[in-house]
Amino acid sequence: MANKSGINLKLANLENREKRLGTIIAWDGSASDLVRESNYKLRSEKKGKSCSGERGKACKLCELKMPFNQQTMCTQSIVACQVGNIPDAILIEHSSIGCSAMHTRFNVGYKMGLIRRGKKVENIQIISTNLLEKDMVFGATDKLRQSIQDAWVRFKPKAIFISAACATAIIGEDIESVASEAEKEIGIPVIPLSCEGFRSKHWSTGFDISQHGILRQIVNKKPKKQDNLINIIALWGTDYFTQMLSPLGLKVNYIIDMATVDELAQASEASVTATFCHTLGSYMAAALEQEYGIPEVKAPQPYGFAATDEWLRSIAKVLHRENDMEEFIISEHKRVQPKVDELREKFKGIKGFVATGSSYAHGIISVLEELGIQVDGSVVFHHDPVYDSGDERQDTLGYLVENYGDIEHFTVSKTQQFQFFGLLRRVNPDFVIIRHNGLSPLASKVGIPAFALGDEHFPVGYDGIIRLGEALLEILARKKFSQVLQRHVKLPYTKWWLDQEDPFILAKHPEILDEEVLDEKNIEDKKQEILL
Ligand code: SF4
Repeated sequence: MANKSGINLKLANLENREKRLGTIIAWDGSASDLVRESNYKLRSEKKGKSCSGERGKACKLCELKMPFNQQTMCTQSIVACQVGNIPDAILIEHSSIGCSAMHTRFNVGYKMGLIRRGKKVENIQIISTNLLEKDMVFGATDKLRQSIQDAWVRFKPKAIFISAACATAIIGEDIESVASEAEKEIGIPVIPLSCEGFRSKHWSTGFDISQHGILRQIVNKKPKKQDNLINIIALWGTDYFTQMLSPLGLKVNYIIDMATVDELAQASEASVTATFCHTLGSYMAAALEQEYGIPEVKAPQPYGFAATDEWLRSIAKVLHRENDMEEFIISEHKRVQPKVDELREKFKGIKGFVATGSSYAHGIISVLEELGIQVDGSVVFHHDPVYDSGDERQDTLGYLVENYGDIEHFTVSKTQQFQFFGLLRRVNPDFVIIRHNGLSPLASKVGIPAFALGDEHFPVGYDGIIRLGEALLEILARKKFSQVLQRHVKLPYTKWWLDQEDPFILAKHPEILDEEVLDEKNIEDKKQEILL
């Protein structure tokens, strides 16, 4: 039976974020409105239940219903860039080859990550069963069995993951049984992951699915406690955490990307678990605390002075090393503050815009505020009204609003290019910070320089304030280039759409789509507009 957290590692599968946490992908309003509607406290008490106490009917935030998605990632892709980035494991994608289209990009991210962590650089090792038409008719479990054998003979991995896809879910492939048979036969963990793209409306469920599989089949079930080991649930970022935790002399165990199978196995042996982003770390950190009693850091994320202080103090408290950390915090403030003051002078009157994943955006906005940069607009790619721990100290949006003030236009939208122009026009920022870099060309085309933030640890901690500030000075220096670009580039949208003031008008009035399509004259007008 699942406990209060809703995490049950006995089950091969887990609840999607939208059901477990009440995640939404479309919303428009102020940050303070979203904090109020999210009602973190109430949700943490009733997580997984409706207000009437009925399980499986989580209270929903009022979400805008968009009639279509222009583009998106999926849970299967996220699984590929998580468990597909474990150097001594193999991922078999039981899917058509089109589901592997992101691999070239993921390969670059993986290699960059290996370089940043000082590990041997190699290509990602992902195999596709390359489902064809006849496989969809007759099934493809034999093909999967053969792929497992091939992976074992060719790579001798320490673990094999198998990811499902829309196609395999539609024809009902029994991946679990095949994995279980293979595990007995070859004697290494063979881990089935139900990550078919259509199962969840937001890709971040893919983080949870990857972590669930690792927790069930890789993490050491009989851990031998390592007092100086800290789990940091991360992506591909540079190792800034070792320096940040230097006064405690902790050894950092990064999870999942670039970690070996043995490093993942020792996650249950750590003394504490933390993360740079509660969106990413929520499920695994809560599960490690629930199953192995490893305390999860109950604090906002380490961005800006105040939250970094709280994050470090929280770790020190778990380890009973508060005094060591207090001295470090004082000396770090003294070292960093003068440079931050200098940067603040340079950013007077500058406005920024953040377009990233959910709780990560809350952290970056804190750093911008520390630098004296005004933020009155942001778009996050989804919103979790509560995280798995249900602990209010992790309410990062609430923390942001309480400590740095409201953000007038705080939008939730899943990397929808067609809305991005309208969102930027509302606030007209001097620069944008973007994590999913497909959006950055559009910002440049409308004359706004974009910082495609590749190393996600860049703004972390005290030094992160300086790193981000210095990088932004260089980004602002490109403003002229973006303005020149704007003069020579035409956006691929109709005048009708570009004239709309509300980027969510199609959610509020989906009937417009029918009217537009039915009106042939309108179509002709629009064709002319595009041709001009
Ligand atoms: S799993 Fe489904 S949504 Fe994801 S890439 Fe494959 S077909 Fe597309």
